[in-house]
Amino acid sequence: MLVCECGATRASAGLRTMACVKCGRAMHAPLAPAEPRPGIGLVALGVLVGQLACVVVIGLAAVAMISTGEASGATLAVAGGATFGVLAGMFAYRGSTVALLVVAVIVATIAGGLLSEVGALGALPRAQSVVDPDLVGKLIAGVAALAAVLCASAIPQARRYAAWHDEQIERVVRSRS
Ligand SMILES: [Zn+2]
Repeated sequence: MLVCECGATRASAGLRTMACVKCGRAMHAPLAPAEPRPGIGLVALGVLVGQLACVVVIGLAAVAMISTGEASGATLAVAGGATFGVLAGMFAYRGSTVALLVVAVIVATIAGGLLSEVGALGALPRAQSVVDPDLVGKLIAGVAALAAVLCASAIPQARRYAAWHDEQIERVVRSRS
C-alpha cells in the first residue's frame, strides 16, 4: 500500500511510487510511527561540566597573560584548546558524537596536565594568588575529570540521539519527495 501526505491511500500494485489521484503528489510507502525524541540529559550534563572547566582554564590563562604582561605560545595554546572545548560543546549539545569525544579528550587533557603539574597547564593555578594554587589545581582537575567520565559515558546516548535525528530528516525528505 502507498500513502499520500493528503491522507489518500492506494494499493501499490507492485509499484514503489505513483502519483496521488487526489492531489498529484508522489505517494510513498507508509513510514514507521514517529519515535519520541530520546533523552540527552547525560550528554548535556557532561558537556556543561566540561565547558565550566574550560571556561575556568581560559580565565586563568588570561590572568597569567595579564599578570606577566606577555602571552607565551604555551599559554596561548592552552587557552585556545580550552576555547575549542567550549565551542565543541555547543555541537555536542546538538547530539554530535564527534564533538562529544573532542570535549572528553580536552577535559581529560586538562585534568591530566593539572594533576601532573606539567607545562603551561600545570603552571596555571599559580597565575592567581587568591587561593592556594595546589587546591585550585586539584579542584579544576577534579571537575575536568568528572566531565571526562560523564562525556565518555554519554556517548551511547549521543549516538541514539544522532540516529533519531537522522531518521527525522529522512522522514521530512521522504514526505516531500
Ligand atoms: Zn494526495
